[in-house]
Amino acid sequence: MLKMSEVVKGYATDTIQTQALQPFNLEIQQGEFISVVGPSGAGKTTFLNILGLLEEPCRGHYLLDGEPVLTFSDSRKAKLRNTKIGFIFQSFNLIPELSVYGNVELPLRYRRLPANTRKHRVLKTLKAVGLINRANHKPYQLSGGQQQRAAIARALVGEPSILLADEPTGNLDSVKSEEIMSLLLDINRQGTTLLMVTHDPVLALKAQRTIEIRDGILKERCARHYAARWR
Ligand code: ADP
Ligand code: ADP
Repeated sequence: MLKMSEVVKGYATDTIQTQALQPFNLEIQQGEFISVVGPSGAGKTTFLNILGLLEEPCRGHYLLDGEPVLTFSDSRKAKLRNTKIGFIFQSFNLIPELSVYGNVELPLRYRRLPANTRKHRVLKTLKAVGLINRANHKPYQLSGGQQQRAAIARALVGEPSILLADEPTGNLDSVKSEEIMSLLLDINRQGTTLLMVTHDPVLALKAQRTIEIRDGILKERCARHYAARWR
């Protein structure tokens, strides 16, 4: 579903040139679960942002479902981000003024879907993440785990084929972290491709593949058969 070749990312500032990601090639099939590990500053977030079309690489090719997405206009990229790609962040990034319902509905509003379609999808998604009885709560009225479930619902409501999660359990205690992880695994089992940055080796091992990034260099770390035992 996803193929990248010779992708490179650097940042030029006044004083220094950072090579955030060295040239890499990558192929991902629909439904895979891949963990992304590596020290802070290694390039993990940059990597996810490039996959999610939030950042442009300096060069390279990127085919998403056979389409050369880097050649697309900004508005076409934005549309893809709203349909095929879902993002989850460590800090939830919910809009504080909106209820859980309003937050989850937002991506569908951007897509100008009709009200009854939006309602149907939002309620279905809130049920799936176990938040239906919190629909009218504001984010500050929720526990951390509930806020992350709301953020997951917002990422899922557009029915993306790929979910990009940047340390989704980084702000949660171990019990909440397990809950969120099992929700993400369910979503993955239903066919959504999952890429997850994590610092937790136990969580990383739940994936079929692990990509390690060090100083901007990507390395595939463990064989598929190794992780198969953990599923
Ligand atoms: P990680 O997610 O692994 O902590 P990042 O992808 O955030 O790493 O960062 C990789 C490297 O790119 C770091 O050296 C960081 O300082 C640099 N970097 C990230 N974003 C920018 C930016 N907007 N401008 C300049 N340098 C950046
Ligand atoms: P957790 O045990 O998951 O950390 P909390 O102890 O923070 O949860 O909250 C317990 C329940 O009370 C949660 O289901 C949450 O929705 C609700 N709650 C917490 N804070 C508020 C609040 N300020 N207003 C309304 N409901 C709240």
